[in-house]
Amino acid sequence: MNSVLIIGSGIAGMSCAINCAQKGIHVILASPFPSERSQSVMAAGGINAVLPGNGEGDTVESHIEDTLKGGAHLAGTKAVTGLCEEAGDIIRYLESIGTVFSVDDKGRPAYRAFGGQSHKRTYYCGASTGKQIVTALNMEVRRFEAKGIIERRLGLCFHSALIKDGMCYGAMMYSEAANRLENIYADALVMATGGQNALFGKTTGSTQCDGYAAGKLFEQGVILKNLEFIQYHPTTMETSQKRMLISEAVRGEGGRLFYNEVEERVYFMEEKYGPNGNLQTRDVVSREIWATGKDVYLDVSFVGKKLIDERLPEVRDLCRKYRDIDITREPIPVAPSVHFFMGGIAVKNEHETNIKNMFAVGECASIYHGANRLGGNSLLAAMYGGRVAARALAGRESCGEHPLFERELEEAQAKLNEMADTKSTFAYAHIREMLAQTMQENLGIVREEQALTKGLEKIDNYITAAGKIHYDNSVLQYFNYSLPGILTLARAVLTSALSRRESRGAHYRSDYTKSDDSYKYATLISYDNGKYRTWLDTEGEYES
Ligand SMILES: Cc1cc2nc3c(=O)[nH]c(=O)nc-3n(C[C@H](O)[C@H](O)[C@H](O)COP(=O)(O)OP(=O)(O)OC[C@H]3O[C@@H](n4cnc5c(N)ncnc54)[C@H](O)[C@@H]3O)c2cc1C
Repeated sequence: MNSVLIIGSGIAGMSCAINCAQKGIHVILASPFPSERSQSVMAAGGINAVLPGNGEGDTVESHIEDTLKGGAHLAGTKAVTGLCEEAGDIIRYLESIGTVFSVDDKGRPAYRAFGGQSHKRTYYCGASTGKQIVTALNMEVRRFEAKGIIERRLGLCFHSALIKDGMCYGAMMYSEAANRLENIYADALVMATGGQNALFGKTTGSTQCDGYAAGKLFEQGVILKNLEFIQYHPTTMETSQKRMLISEAVRGEGGRLFYNEVEERVYFMEEKYGPNGNLQTRDVVSREIWATGKDVYLDVSFVGKKLIDERLPEVRDLCRKYRDIDITREPIPVAPSVHFFMGGIAVKNEHETNIKNMFAVGECASIYHGANRLGGNSLLAAMYGGRVAARALAGRESCGEHPLFERELEEAQAKLNEMADTKSTFAYAHIREMLAQTMQENLGIVREEQALTKGLEKIDNYITAAGKIHYDNSVLQYFNYSLPGILTLARAVLTSALSRRESRGAHYRSDYTKSDDSYKYATLISYDNGKYRTWLDTEGEYES
């Protein structure tokens, strides 16, 4: 292929861009903001890999097994095997381009324990792993920009994909500066737009990740997968802006969860699961915290100030800054919050969707994490997915002559102008707030039929309202036109959760508390003229 349009410039988008550029493919890397502002920058605790000689008898096979088991055997063995086998090479590559990993006494990259893993294998850069990786990848992207192989386009938001007869030819994008839509044509489109945080309002992640792209593509015929599997991170701290992540690294370094009972601490995770109780997988820890019905705390003070200063300085600083808590002396009040989306755009092993020449990588794609993601595996998946998609693209023919979508552009622009003409200040924001409240209340850590059905009814009302409201011309047009797509995605998430009548990984139903083997497949969902259809991937089309 000669050209690719990549939308989203977090770690997944940049990894794909660099790998395409290395193969001589011209890349347009489009996003609303620079990479330094993508959610990837927030990643704290680390990235998983088994490097030769990291001791403790760890093996790639063990990483594969932990990943499959952590995901409740819903992720495909072939995909996970590729991910884990290439992890060591990804760490070495990141080092080679200047990622500053923390090192041990002998100057070798240091690794720590993370939840759900049989061995320590999470490589880290203090508690700012994402930031270090983004910085290093950014420099690589710049090298290719200088050669004219990568072209960065900032201030661009996704509007829709250019699809004809099941084939993709690029995307229609909204330029914030020009307040206009434009078509960007390319041999292939790679979506790298991250998770769906904004569906839930206040989460640990970035509101840039609003799920609109997945919702719009779904309306355009792209199949989505496993949307019901939403990871609640067990340890987050309330602040006015967001739920601040208290990295799993805190428990990895020896932090203990407890609640107070008549002046006595109850270390409930250790009581139930033994000495390693605090490092159970995130779905388990979140549910256990929820089940206590109490105020829960995380105490890491007893590991000592020296270790905290050395290994958890960012956590120390953010607790001090946002809540005036000194973690070297005091426990942190924590509660679970929405953190990561195992579900998203359904992709096959080469990261291609059901639309030819449309790919998806990183958190917006659903492939490696099954029903629950292990901490440290998503940075790895973002890096790896970018590589896999680039390899597939390099092996494809260029599409040559392509259809034009200029009439579609004119129509979409006219619709946008109509919105901009509206004088009302009644905002999309009100519906977004109600949506977040509905999703938090009706699709929590524990779900059941009645609440899910109620949630669906509410979303249907918002969809009707969104079709009738006057839009707010004082905000960016993106916020206005993205609302229906976001609501469609929310409806798809609730529909998927209703269809899975069992409990597995992060999807726990109080009305079906057991896992049921007839559901041991991914949930797929498609959209056709307002109709939502779910089915299980029993043939392993998207899970091999
Ligand atoms: C607080 C926190 C800590 C984390 N810590 C870890 C960790 O220690 N280890 C780990 O493995 N994982 C961690 N994760 C998860 C991990 O950071 C993400 O899964 C990963 O970085 C996702 O990368 P990405 O490139 O797919 O998406 P992102 O980094 O979210 O990038 C998405 C890109 O898409 C763009 N975009 C979004 N919507 C649109 C649109 N409509 N139009 C155009 N562009 C759009 C955004 O602007 C951005 O450029 C953490 C997550 C959070 C929130």
